[in-house]
Amino acid sequence: MVDIKSMTLEELTQWFKDQGEPAFRAKQVFRWLYRGVTSFEEMSDLSKGLRQKLKETCILTAPKVARKQVSQLDGTIKYLWELGDGNCIETVFMRYKHGNTVCISCQVGCRMGCAFCASTLAGKVRDLTPGEMVDQVLFTQLDSGEPISNIVLMGIGEPLDNFDTVIRFLTLINHPDGMNIGMRHISLSTCGLVEKIDKLAEYGLQLTLSVSLHAPDDETRSKIMPVNRSVGVDRLMDTCRRYFQTTGRRISYEYAMIDGVNDSDWQADRLAHLLKGTGGHVNLIPLNNVEESPLKPSRRVAAFQKRLESHGVTVTVRRRLGSDIDASCGQLRRKAMRQDNG
Ligand code: SF4
Repeated sequence: MVDIKSMTLEELTQWFKDQGEPAFRAKQVFRWLYRGVTSFEEMSDLSKGLRQKLKETCILTAPKVARKQVSQLDGTIKYLWELGDGNCIETVFMRYKHGNTVCISCQVGCRMGCAFCASTLAGKVRDLTPGEMVDQVLFTQLDSGEPISNIVLMGIGEPLDNFDTVIRFLTLINHPDGMNIGMRHISLSTCGLVEKIDKLAEYGLQLTLSVSLHAPDDETRSKIMPVNRSVGVDRLMDTCRRYFQTTGRRISYEYAMIDGVNDSDWQADRLAHLLKGTGGHVNLIPLNNVEESPLKPSRRVAAFQKRLESHGVTVTVRRRLGSDIDASCGQLRRKAMRQDNG
């Protein structure tokens, strides 16, 4: 069976040719896919015979809403989608001044083991397909009834650990006959897989790369992010500098503020030192409380920001959206898993 939504228009065109069908059918079908049809029967301008053939040879993915939480405070919507094989993933819809943004997952679970993250508590189950990534944007737009203009790859999973799928997803979502979302409206977040950052740089994409730094020193970073044990902060920062030089795109450094772990003045000073000449800016993230985690939100966000700014670093503080729902990555999936297991 062919996973039709994971195919590019060019591949679909070739596939139709191979089936003895005219090439223009590919564009017709591609457009139907991005209208969010959930069955081939809905493709009303195709012959009955062709619809039957598609049904017999292709998989048409369409996730079901397993749970949905709507914030009463700011309208943020958190979806728990059930995939075709019964696995669940999360997607968050957020309203910003610059447009509606959707935060999507790229894996079922995650194997990176970051100490502050609920997504990794049961490890990685599997990678998502490109089509399953597209579905999150498409079906969130359909269900919410609101257009989506920005995408962040910051949900469950490490995007660069599912590299080829993510590149294919970016091609699909950017296509003018699909959702036509520009690269400059897409952010990709990584915990710092250095070889993959170098590989990404070769594509020269105009997206925004966010690097989850979370600590400026190896001792702290290795404690909260196991990925650091094999790479280290210096090598990561060298890679980031190279990325900036190759692509010309400024990197955003994510920094989740954890009480008593990474929020002291000396760490702000060291962070400012690390960022010298990188052109990057820091995004401080007030931590959400994860029930199972001993890591608690810092009370020093403003002081840390001030200290960084005194060194000339550009700092933003992420607005907390959906704080009345389980809006932190992986929390809703964990809750559902616990309840399903009794
Ligand atoms: S923060 Fe990202 S990379 Fe780290 S465990 Fe969570 S999902 Fe994985």
